[in-house]
Parts: sequence; structure tokens; C-alpha cells
Amino acid sequence: MRLSEYFLPVLRENPSEAQIASHRLMLRAGMIRQSSAGIYSWLRLGLRVLKKVEAIVREEQNRAGAQEILMPTIQPAELWRESGRYDDYGKEMLRIRDRHDREMLYGPTNEEQVTEIARAFVKSYRDLHKLLFHIQWKFRDEVRPRFGVMRGREFLMKDAYSLDIDAAGAKHAYNKMFVAYLRTFARLGLKAIPMRADTGPIGGDLSHEFIILADTGESAVFCDRRWLETDILAGEIDYAGDLEPFYKRWTALYAATDEQHDPASCPIPASDLVSARGIEVGHIFYFGDKYSRPMGAVVAGPDGEPVPIEMGSYGIGVSRLVGALIEANHDAAGIIWPESVAPFRVGLINLRATDPRSRQAADEIYGKLSAAGVEVLYDDRDESPGAKFATMDLIGLPEQVVVGPRGLAAGTVEMKNRRTGQRQDMSIESAFDRLVTCSPSPHPAAGKKRAKSAQP
Ligand code: ATP
Ligand code: MG
Repeated sequence: MRLSEYFLPVLRENPSEAQIASHRLMLRAGMIRQSSAGIYSWLRLGLRVLKKVEAIVREEQNRAGAQEILMPTIQPAELWRESGRYDDYGKEMLRIRDRHDREMLYGPTNEEQVTEIARAFVKSYRDLHKLLFHIQWKFRDEVRPRFGVMRGREFLMKDAYSLDIDAAGAKHAYNKMFVAYLRTFARLGLKAIPMRADTGPIGGDLSHEFIILADTGESAVFCDRRWLETDILAGEIDYAGDLEPFYKRWTALYAATDEQHDPASCPIPASDLVSARGIEVGHIFYFGDKYSRPMGAVVAGPDGEPVPIEMGSYGIGVSRLVGALIEANHDAAGIIWPESVAPFRVGLINLRATDPRSRQAADEIYGKLSAAGVEVLYDDRDESPGAKFATMDLIGLPEQVVVGPRGLAAGTVEMKNRRTGQRQDMSIESAFDRLVTCSPSPHPAAGKKRAKSAQP
């Protein structure tokens, strides 16, 4: 993509409304535009990242055997009356009336909707187990929307729902999502720690929040120091097999949110305990028949007896993750994208757009890299070198290639790694080789040891 043609409305000044780095940088890098409090348009660069995050979330859901559907954003109030949540949900729910005066709502979550689908189509224990998911916008009229997309009112969520005949089946589904979540966040280059959590308005018996550590996180959290050195993606995973040992292993290390942590009964010594702030990026629940029973989602069991479906729900904040990724990956100059979600892998800068030789060389590198399938954003504009460097650092593409008259006279271009800051002059061929041969593989297999280059 040529920057001269691309829609990238970067801001020079720091927007005054942004309190945290990710919000500030998303506005400055032209990723989002606020529409009203907590509601945003996603511009080109922001949308590219959102789609990449979504794709990784989807791949890991598929790998775990979840099947994608798409449920609506607008739901009938009726369903929520059946579960009893229409009144409980309070002011966070955006309530709407259609032209026939029917009560509708913009879904804050989809347990009722999926239970209605289950009751319509799942009639026998033989139809179970099922794991359904969708990636859909939600609306919650938060009291204090803030921090940009981190606490929005309209936000993108992946929510999955498991349907099983008994508690053992439901726990296996819970374990599948538990594993898929650890893998998803690890592939995004984030360390998300599962913490036993309150089940809140979703209700139920078993629940974990997945929390990444960041100074600007909204909740206080505590965990075993050893969490910081774990490698989730190492080792084999067989979703059809017994996942309980994996679950036990990753819940054995102490981790708790503020509400669950009690210093008096904490099982590890204070010297091993890390006290930090965290951002919730995912939340899983097992709630049994909380919805299936009142809504009549009942199947015929093996002996013909009616059995309410055992259910769980599993959410990931897809749009929140974009902000969380920036919180975990930035410096004073701007964003530093992990390879796995970078909007483009390479930023190509032509230092002197008016110099025919530089332009020809940069055009050629751009053409060759694009043809080799490398995603390149090519700054071909007639701007000062300072402005070009600042923009590239701000938008945080992992690799920069700088083409200018002086280097070309010596037969070289400059390569800069955004994360390490390391610069190196090299021949065009070597630069090309490095960018093409070091392309990260986007599909590390669950069952295989991860290739080095796949690590974000
Ligand atoms: P929080 O405690 O942060 O308000 P929640 O517990 O209400 O979140 P869940 O119902 O568990 O949220 O939703 C699943 C996921 O959706 C959360 O883990 C989070 O990543 C994301 N999410 C929830 N609320 C918002 C929001 N207002 N803006 C962006 N993402 C959100
Ligand atoms: Mg939650």
C-alpha cells in the first residue's frame, strides 16, 4: 500500500481526552475516531489490526472444535424476560422499541439467544456435545466509558456457548476453551493469566477471568512469580483427549483478582507473590442449567427422560485486545506491534521522493516485496525525512526499510527493527532475503512444537 494513497489520518498533537497510552496512540495513529462516548469508527489501520486479532481468535476457536455462527445484535426483550434477566440487567442494557412498539434491546451478550436456538434444534442427547461461537458487536451502556476501546459502550466480542448432556461433558467443554484461551493470548504475544473469578450477572459455579498485567489495568491482581516465566505454546495439545491435567497444571500456580485474594489465606509466601494491575481480556463461565431450565432447552436423555442442557459461555474482548496490545507494546515514539497482529509487517521509506533514482529503487523494492506476499506500507510521499521517521515509529510496523540517495550510491538500504531499535545497512538483496525468508508463519499448529519464527 502506498502511503500517498492510503487513508491514514495521523495526529501531530496529543489528544487531550486520552488518559492512557493505548487510547492516545490509537487516536494519534489514525486507527479510530470517536463517534460518541464509548463508540468508535475503526479507520483503515485500526481495522487491519482488529481483523488480525479476530482471525487469531477465530483460528483457535476452530482448532478447539467450536463452530462459527452469527447471531443478531438486536434481540427481542421477550427472551430476556424468560430467563429473568430483562429487569436484572438494569441501565447497562440499551432498550429499544420498534415501529410496532415491540420491546427490543441491543445485545450485551447472547446466552438467551443461543439457548433459544438450542431449544429449537437440539432434541436428543445424541445431538450433543456442541460448541458454538460468534464474533459480534455488543452494546453495554457503561456508566463510565473510558480508555478508548478498552472500556467502550459498543465493542466487539467473541462469545462461545457450550451445550452438553451432563456436568462431565460441560467441564470438558470448559477445559477446551480454557486451553484455547491460553493459546490465543500467547499467539497475540500476551501473557494472560487465568484467575478464579466471581460469576457476576452471568451466574454459575465455575469461572475464570483471563488477565494481562499492565500498569494501566483497571483491577488489582495477585499471582505467583513463576507465572511470568511460563511458555504456554510449548508442548502438545489434543482437544479430543483428557484436558484436565492441562487445566490442573495451569490453575495450580496461584493467581487471584482483588475480590478473591485474601492475604491471610494466600497459599504462597509473600516473597513469591507479584502484586500488579491487570486488564481482563477474556472470561469463561460454567453455569449448568441456569438458562436452559427456565427457557425450556431440554433434551431427551439416554433413557428418554427430559434433561436440561448443561451450558457454559466464553467471552473474549476482541476490540479491547487492540488497546491491551498497545498497552503492552509501546514506547515514547509510538506503538510497537507484535508480528502476529501488525497492520503491515514492513514500513518502506523513500527518503527523497523527488529523486528519480531513489524512487525507482524504492518502487522496485515495494513491487518485489508485495509480489512475495510481504505486507508493506510504502511511504512514497514528498515529506521531510523527520516526518516520515516519526510517522513510521508512531504506527509501529515491526521492520523499517529506508531508501535514500546516499545509501543507494553505496549500494545499500538501511533496515531498522522497531522493537530493538537496531539499524543495519545492507544490500538490497540481503534486505529482501531477510524480509522474505523471515516472514512469520501465521499458523503454528497446536499439536506441533512451535517454529521459532512463529513466536510473536
Ligand atoms: P468488565 O469486568 O471489564 O466490565 P465483564 O466482566 O463485564 O467485563 P464479560 O461479560 O465477562 O465482561 O465479557 C467478556 C469480555 O468482553 C471481557 O473479558 C472483556 O474483555 C470484554 N468487555 C466487556 N466489557 C467491555 C467493554 N465495555 N468494552 C470493551 N470490552 C469489554
Ligand atoms: Mg468478565
